[in-house]
Amino acid sequence: MTKTIDYDLCSPLQFVKGVGPARAALLKRLNIHNVQDLLYYQPLRYEKKPTQCNIRDLKLDHTQIVCGKVVSVQVVNPSRQRQGRRKPLNIFEAQITDHTGWLRAVWFNQPYLKESIKPGTRIMLTGQPKKAFIGLIPQMTNPAFEIIQEDDTISSGLNDEGSLPVYSLTEGLDQRRLRTIIRNALDSYAPYIVDPIPKHILQAHQLPSLKESLLAIHLPPSESSLEDLNEAITPYQRRIAFDEVFILQIGLCILKGRSASEKGISMKGSGELRKALLNNLPFSLTRAQERVIKEIISDMESESPMSRLLQGDVGCGKTIVALICMLNALESGHQAALMAPTELLAEQHYQGIKKLLGNMDIKVSLYTGSKRDKKPLRILKKESMIAVGTHALIQEDVAFESLGLSIIDEQHRFGVMQRASLRKKGNNPDVLIMSATPIPRTLAMTLYGDLDYSVIDELPPGRTPVQTRLFTEGNKREIYGILQREISKGRQAYIVYPVIEESENADLKSAILGAQRLPEIMPGLSVGLVHGRMKQEDRERVMRDFKEGRIHILVATTVIEVGVDVPNATVMVIINAERFGLAQLHQLRGRVGRGNYESYCLLLCYNQPEDARKRMYAMLKTNDGFKIAEEDLKIRGYGDLMGTRQSGMPELKTVNLLRDGLLVDLARREAESLLKEDPTLQRYPLLKKTAQQFWGSRIDLFKTA
Ligand code: ADP
Ligand code: MG
Repeated sequence: MTKTIDYDLCSPLQFVKGVGPARAALLKRLNIHNVQDLLYYQPLRYEKKPTQCNIRDLKLDHTQIVCGKVVSVQVVNPSRQRQGRRKPLNIFEAQITDHTGWLRAVWFNQPYLKESIKPGTRIMLTGQPKKAFIGLIPQMTNPAFEIIQEDDTISSGLNDEGSLPVYSLTEGLDQRRLRTIIRNALDSYAPYIVDPIPKHILQAHQLPSLKESLLAIHLPPSESSLEDLNEAITPYQRRIAFDEVFILQIGLCILKGRSASEKGISMKGSGELRKALLNNLPFSLTRAQERVIKEIISDMESESPMSRLLQGDVGCGKTIVALICMLNALESGHQAALMAPTELLAEQHYQGIKKLLGNMDIKVSLYTGSKRDKKPLRILKKESMIAVGTHALIQEDVAFESLGLSIIDEQHRFGVMQRASLRKKGNNPDVLIMSATPIPRTLAMTLYGDLDYSVIDELPPGRTPVQTRLFTEGNKREIYGILQREISKGRQAYIVYPVIEESENADLKSAILGAQRLPEIMPGLSVGLVHGRMKQEDRERVMRDFKEGRIHILVATTVIEVGVDVPNATVMVIINAERFGLAQLHQLRGRVGRGNYESYCLLLCYNQPEDARKRMYAMLKTNDGFKIAEEDLKIRGYGDLMGTRQSGMPELKTVNLLRDGLLVDLARREAESLLKEDPTLQRYPLLKKTAQQFWGSRIDLFKTA
């Protein structure tokens, strides 16, 4: 949550009416440390204000309001009846009636109530009537009450139409108390709320003022419907969410602008190598590939260093795009590096690139091998021009004479901080990050908002979508039939397990056991096993055997999740599919359907709790990675997806990136145009302070260069 800094609002909690040291301590447990925290404390949800009714019409177990006259009161001390209780429990009891019926109200340990609740007084009670233990009269326990005047049924607005906020609580603090405390804080401090967002932006988008919005969040006006409040789409809630995305975008745009203002390498290639490559290709590029190549190359041509994200679903053809961009660097006399997360993937890229280049006269070197045997720093001269390897190897063991372009593949765990430091190596090379985890655009604008963004939203033609089917214990034998059929056609298959060994989790099937049993069930087949605890060399040997067709069925854990390319494999079986996340299932499915054959993804579930069912349904419904990502966002919630915390981003509390997509767009545009006109926010000191506070120590947004 973005908060406005103002010293009055930073006053300690004890300044608020109704808060003493004890309550202040309770509030601290809710992460409320000062007045400002209190004003910004978001309700969990809203509920309908209780309605007033006649006692006769009370519904059991619903919160309602009744008015009536106190007929009799008594203090009972049941410790005499119940033995063994240490503290005597005090019960104050009142009988209340209106013209329609009788109600008993009881309060525990508040004997002093007898001073205010006396026979003959009129009283208004708010609470949930329960069925009485004794007799027929319903009973309210510890109801909220107010003494009212003779014919005065409406008091302090309590029975207006409208909604009440429901906050998350801590032991010792009840809803009613917290509401009162927050209301008191608003009463005395609302005048000190200052608005950090420039007026012209608020006006342009009809966003209410901060003060109005904070008031409306805690004391919803009657025109805000309960549904709108709970969906967080009232103008006031949107305004508070806007603050959060806007301040976030201010930070991201500053980061982005900072790298743009540095001097990089301008690479204007002749296009000759690219032409030669395209002439060699057995296919033509898709329109999406052509578009992103144009975007990237024009970025490479500019003087300022490139920081760009290239997104595209598995199999959309990112490698060829990367290669064409690397050729542009070579044409301009620079070198290029392609880095992958694992050695296997680096090797695969290396092979793939060599194959694509055919007999073109371009040197490609592969950097693998463990870092243990410390080799001397290898210096890449201009003539050895494309380096492929793992991220660590290239960063530590290779020095370039003139690195022009760094491409990082499959690095979706690269946080904003790491990206900011990526260019430190080399001479401000252009950086392209490739991700095969499609994420919705609004989320990309947030997680990768410091980068430019290119997306390949089209698969090469002729792909038949993978057929996805769901199996349970009952019909799992059909899976063997499909495997048998495909293998007899000369195809290969993967079977993925959630764990390596049974001992990790007795409820789950394990890869080792699976690989042992498989030959008994399907004799005559060659079965391989790879998992994360095998030595790298052994794993790669098995992978190579599979790739080259010496193994029919590869039993594996998710080590094969990323990027492995075996076009002859047509079946992906996922055991205990209910235990995999949606993005992971989609990545696994992407391992098949890479050739020209009909392919299958067979999901075997042993049980299906609610959200597993949703994930399986999403898998059955679509093959489109972007749609899958959106479903994932809905199921898991935006905070969880991609681990925003891991990414180095400040935490978002009020924005829902799916629901508030338009708001993110709007905030982005406004942040860009504001910074264009005033790059250091000199004219908006409060906004500047707020942004710096929000980003905290992560990034010094306004450090002078
Ligand atoms: P990813 O985006 O998952 O890295 P790859 O670059 O590995 O995808 O491409 C997947 C497969 O599609 C490769 O075999 C590649 O040669 C092929 N491919 C790429 N672009 C095209 C295209 N325009 N037409 C046909 N096949 C293509
Ligand atoms: Mg790839």
